[in-house]
Amino acid sequence: MSAPRIEIDLDLVERNTRVLVDRLAARDIRVLGVTKAVLGSPRVAAAMLAGGAIGLGDARVENLARLDGSVPRTLIRSPMISQVGQVVRTATASLNTEPAVIATLDDAATHAGIRHDVILMVELGDLREGIAVDDVPAAVRVVLASRSLRLRGLGTNLACQNGVVPDDANMDVLHRLVDRTEAHHGITLDVVSGGNSAALEWALTTARLGRTDELRLGESILLGTEPLRRTPIAGLSTNAFALVGEIIEVADKPARPWGTQALATYGEPPAHSARGTRRQAIVALGRQDVDIVGLLPPDGMSVLGMSSDHLVLDLGDHPMTVGDELRFGLGYGALVRAMTSPFVTRVERQVLATPDTLGPVAGSARR
Ligand SMILES: *Cc1c(COP(=O)(O)O)cnc(C)c1O
Repeated sequence: MSAPRIEIDLDLVERNTRVLVDRLAARDIRVLGVTKAVLGSPRVAAAMLAGGAIGLGDARVENLARLDGSVPRTLIRSPMISQVGQVVRTATASLNTEPAVIATLDDAATHAGIRHDVILMVELGDLREGIAVDDVPAAVRVVLASRSLRLRGLGTNLACQNGVVPDDANMDVLHRLVDRTEAHHGITLDVVSGGNSAALEWALTTARLGRTDELRLGESILLGTEPLRRTPIAGLSTNAFALVGEIIEVADKPARPWGTQALATYGEPPAHSARGTRRQAIVALGRQDVDIVGLLPPDGMSVLGMSSDHLVLDLGDHPMTVGDELRFGLGYGALVRAMTSPFVTRVERQVLATPDTLGPVAGSARR
């Protein structure tokens, strides 16, 4: 199999899901597995479901269309008006913020003879999607008065745009809105979708869980990290994904460039503090394949720079030669870039482990 390729360990995805599902079940919170970073891969989605996710979510209709039609599928970005027909045929539910979209969605669902579930997203301070708290009652009335939409619940999304941290104060605003909506209309909301992977820490530790009963998890399941501080989550594997690249040049080169320096292709050239020579390799990977931010080289090696098609590494004292392959770990941005690059192939592996052979969950031993 040629490089560059992204290798996906489906067993580790399943195991990460299981750990999170079990921890959250102790707090009566369900998990929706979010597949957008893997472009709706049906096998990754199946691993999430095998790990206990109750449904799947993706930001794009094209990705949702790849998924198993028998499980709940939520469009987690407000639908494009130009796509409402596809949305009601492909997704069982969608997150919504715009009365105009909701009206068109209702028309499309009515036209198709389909019931479509709506979760209204509430703005709690991160300033990406969400209806202002004062405008939620009107949006609720629009959904309740619709012909083919069902108000499934309320939700929120924090951290993605401005890094706003979910806490008791902002989440309480959502929970009070849920209570008021139910009391005012005499209804029960089935879903209070409390957030993404950034809400995990709050959900697992708060003494005031309130009404939140569902989280939409992508990064934490796939990479075993939490987005607020980009730290590994205890008990999860961080190596379900690896990017493999091939070395095309190895040479001992001076540690410092010579000649007059101006800008490099991608801006300021890197600072050089080392002296003497170092063993440098070029890997056939570039910014067209992966983001330099979040690209984690093997232990003992470091990234010196990356242009469109060349990744320059300090090999340390590793005895690598031309033609050798190297495995890189990936942060979220690097994963998304690699998954969407036309140059990177994908290999999804399942070791077909039975629960008995899985061993203890702690650590990331099976590799
Ligand atoms: C991407 C996204 C998620 C999943 O976020 P992670 O940080 O990957 O868990 C959840 N909800 C919405 C609305 C999203 O856009």
